[in-house]
Amino acid sequence: MIHASKNTLSDMPACLQKGVSLSPFNTFRFASKAQFFAQVEHLGALLEVVAWAQAQQLPITVIGGGSNLLLCGDIAGLVIINQLSGVRLTAEDDDSVSLSVAAGEHWHSLVEHCVQQSWYGIENLALIPGTVGAAPVQNIGAYGVEVKDVIERVQVLAIDTGEVKWLAAQDCGFAYRDSHFKGKWQGRYIITEVELRLSKRPAFVLNYGGLKNHIGPEVSLAGVFETVCAVRRSKLPDPKELANAGSFFKNPVVSVKVHEDLLQRFPDLVSFPFGEGYKLAAGWLIDQAGWKGYRDKGVGVYKKQALVLVNYTALQASPLLELEALIQQSVFERYGVQLEREPVELPARVVSKEAES
Ligand SMILES: Cc1cc2nc3c(=O)[nH]c(=O)nc-3n(C[C@H](O)[C@H](O)[C@H](O)COP(=O)(O)OP(=O)(O)OC[C@H]3O[C@@H](n4cnc5c(N)ncnc54)[C@H](O)[C@@H]3O)c2cc1C
Repeated sequence: MIHASKNTLSDMPACLQKGVSLSPFNTFRFASKAQFFAQVEHLGALLEVVAWAQAQQLPITVIGGGSNLLLCGDIAGLVIINQLSGVRLTAEDDDSVSLSVAAGEHWHSLVEHCVQQSWYGIENLALIPGTVGAAPVQNIGAYGVEVKDVIERVQVLAIDTGEVKWLAAQDCGFAYRDSHFKGKWQGRYIITEVELRLSKRPAFVLNYGGLKNHIGPEVSLAGVFETVCAVRRSKLPDPKELANAGSFFKNPVVSVKVHEDLLQRFPDLVSFPFGEGYKLAAGWLIDQAGWKGYRDKGVGVYKKQALVLVNYTALQASPLLELEALIQQSVFERYGVQLEREPVELPARVVSKEAES
């Protein structure tokens, strides 16, 4: 339990700062300020700053690598940059290993480490920016693999009670680019560790994104990892060179009937069977609607991949929000399909009480 009722502003933990710019902490590089700010490297420090913010009745926002954020203004309350570190091998048998990984670890470094150890399961998720703790939030995915496929459980700090507990993967509401952490649990938990189970036996997923075409007849773990990295580098802008947050829209999922109708009108439509229906390639829809390479008011649509919106020079998110609306409208008028945004908007919009349970 957090006992913090005696805290006052003057008891501010030493690691806290006021009015810190978040522009270096989001890959879109939009301007935003945190009212209070802390970078935490261990659980003790996290508990301390959370207790303090709770005592002040301040909202708490956690940021990892800032690679899936759309900062639309200053953030009231405490912003925590999660830098918890450590990787532990918690179980091992002939077939698999279980790893418990601290939430502030860099996701791609973890993938690299697992490939070096000959542990299979996350090689297709190489080069996704950000932290391990954010991976479950939107159930990161690429090339036919989603992180939910290997997550066993997620350790969280419950903000209201201060309790640290494990949540089983099946309770986290994982779905395509979604989970309860992004939905009804938003603002309730801070993810502190993630336990993954990886295979010691080769099990490759090569049927997506043309991966097979890039890999020779000899398939190896290191080969798949290198290929994923090479393909991604050729298609996606490096946020260090051109500010972006990866895919800006989710691939829309439509029914079989809608898919059939669209195929009749657009025989080249790019789509994949998904659940009971089909997933449409949002990048193709945007590209065909004529947006690829578009640039205005300091923002634009990446010239090699229309799914990625980029920030050339804009200080604020407003021109990007305008561009988002224009793209959504034009795609809707052309295909009758509504595009949904992937990055998380901060400050978070208020969630209604009914949705919270
Ligand atoms: C070039 C590029 C390519 C990308 N490619 C992919 C891709 O292929 N597939 C894919 O799925 N994503 C992709 N992304 C998106 C992004 O990298 C992932 O969503 C990543 O998991 C975000 O991690 P982060 O640490 O940067 O999270 P942040 O952007 O810092 O945070 C994202 C959300 O998670 C919350 N959060 C972060 N850490 C915690 C925590 N410890 N506890 C609770 N909540 C937390 C934040 O509050 C926020 O709501 C890409 C982004 C870029 C820039």
